[in-house]
Amino acid sequence: MPSRRTARKDTNTRRKILGQEAGVENVAPVLENVDGKERLQVSIHTLQIAMDCRTRLLLRLAGLMDIGLPPPGSYVSMVAGSWMHKALAAWLTKEDWKVVLAPYKTMSEELAITEDRRGYDNLIAIMTEVVGRYPLARLPFEVLKPEISFVAPLGVLADGTPVDLIGYIDALVQDKRTGQRFILEHKTTGKLDEAFTRRFAEYDVQTTSYMLAAETVLGEKIGDAWVNAIEMAKVPSSDRKCNKHGVQYEECGPMHVKQAFIPARRTPEDLEEFRARALDICERYVLPVARALERRGPSVSTRTSRDGKFTGACDYCEYSRWCLTSNRSPNALNGMLKKAPQADDDRLRSGLVKVEAHGN
Ligand code: SF4
Ligand SMILES: [Zn+2]
Repeated sequence: MPSRRTARKDTNTRRKILGQEAGVENVAPVLENVDGKERLQVSIHTLQIAMDCRTRLLLRLAGLMDIGLPPPGSYVSMVAGSWMHKALAAWLTKEDWKVVLAPYKTMSEELAITEDRRGYDNLIAIMTEVVGRYPLARLPFEVLKPEISFVAPLGVLADGTPVDLIGYIDALVQDKRTGQRFILEHKTTGKLDEAFTRRFAEYDVQTTSYMLAAETVLGEKIGDAWVNAIEMAKVPSSDRKCNKHGVQYEECGPMHVKQAFIPARRTPEDLEEFRARALDICERYVLPVARALERRGPSVSTRTSRDGKFTGACDYCEYSRWCLTSNRSPNALNGMLKKAPQADDDRLRSGLVKVEAHGN
């Protein structure tokens, strides 16, 4: 698909210089000897989908979506989460986060979620409280750079195809005391409980992958991360009396906002385990599917394995209307599934790409 490759060139140019962007010296150039070579680039999400279902993976790599589907409930959470991320990035870089969040007012009206915990007003209430709790000067770290995209070489597959992990890190920060650099990730959740905290502290694979990516592109040990976890619960504001605080909710509401900086640590063995597993998934699932797509186009999805029936992925799959209800009818493929709008073309997309060298 030549058009896609051409379209991707600029993105690849931009994203290969994480080290320099982060203001870090002596960084080994990422993506050496890349000229004209085909590489497999995968996000952590792609690796997870590959484990779920190869048919879903293929449709995702093809950039298709079901146009007749109303946005699922998770869509609202995703939109709200991404606006929260923008606001947090603005706050940490001393921008006016309220200005950044302003367009979300109209959007949450359009989504009819003004009263929802994920609506504009509640986001403002949560942000106000979090910002109030942590004056920037008192945070133990300094933000070196927010919102960094990365391409980190992971290894080479049996047929010689190099694999890159691609993604976004919310911020690269530096400990004010020790000078050590580590990663800051913002996570919004419906429920900030012990299970959530343990997951990120000990094993969450996305956090692991970001540490490995940062080590690869920065050329230094990054075994730590802070996860800024924020519960997206409705901030109570009624005139009823709160049992916990003994005052009306409109008074103590902000005290109910749940937020925590979760320290996450991974050993070098954890990072190597991740690398080996990721390459294994690419070898067995992602590369064969990407090659099938390259050779035969999206219609090959009428014959790929429907792993989702075994893994449970069908329960929440966005393609089930076509895949299960219409039993993968080839006609319905063209009628139901269309190219997703390229509105956020800037985002890194997984798949086979050719990357041009840019003399560095
Ligand atoms: S509906 Fe199930 S089998 Fe079909 S693509 Fe989705 S997860 Fe795979
Ligand atoms: Zn209270």
